[in-house]
Amino acid sequence: MVIHHDLNQLNTPNRQSGIQKELKEFQLMHGVPNKVVFDRLPSNFQLQLVERTKKVGARYVVGALYGDMEASIYEFDKRTEYIKFNSSMYIFLQKYRQIVIHLTNYHLAKFLEKHNDKNKLEDVLLKVENISKRESLHAFYNILWKYETKECFYCGKVLSDKRIATHVDHFIPWSYIQSDNMWNLVLSCQSCNTKKSNKLAKSLYLEKIFVRNENLKLTAVHNDFNYYSERKLEALYEYAGMNGYVENWSP
Ligand SMILES: [Zn+2]
Repeated sequence: MVIHHDLNQLNTPNRQSGIQKELKEFQLMHGVPNKVVFDRLPSNFQLQLVERTKKVGARYVVGALYGDMEASIYEFDKRTEYIKFNSSMYIFLQKYRQIVIHLTNYHLAKFLEKHNDKNKLEDVLLKVENISKRESLHAFYNILWKYETKECFYCGKVLSDKRIATHVDHFIPWSYIQSDNMWNLVLSCQSCNTKKSNKLAKSLYLEKIFVRNENLKLTAVHNDFNYYSERKLEALYEYAGMNGYVENWSP
């Protein structure tokens, strides 16, 4: 929002927030064009940016939010860079994730409308909602094609080696997870991918992806499973259902 759409993030006119300054400084230093979004930056740039914004966040945000919320959401330790959610709050946020995101986006858009020039505010809600962008799944396709049986994960049909007819499907819909993780991606035929769309597959497919992940973990892509566990995948699957995603899909 700062670089791509040039939206001011502070309620004081003609001043910039600490994070805004960091982003603009970094952009200038490396000559990053305005139209390049975070996801398209090289990974070392992404890491440097995360480090810089983390420092500002540690200074101005973590403690302030903790105080404002009367310590009800998380506890933290700045020295060891540690944040721990209160478990009931964590469950609440997962259960009502879609509603919380929509409410937050609505109020953020309202705030930005108040503190930015009219000419920058076209489609402001759309600009707010498109922060995370879907990446190309081509790299994942290559990996899955190499290690998987060449059958549709859902209907079992033999897959075409024509790239256009074979899809990479987000087992838990992308719109819920909003990132591309190896442990959540499967090969599917065009028909299943299109029909499944934003739905959750039947629980027998959850069992199937558990097994698939155990096998894929043994290959050269094991690093993509560093933060994976069956428990986490199962919890996300359940939470997506609670957030209103259509359940029980099968071909
Ligand atoms: Zn299929």
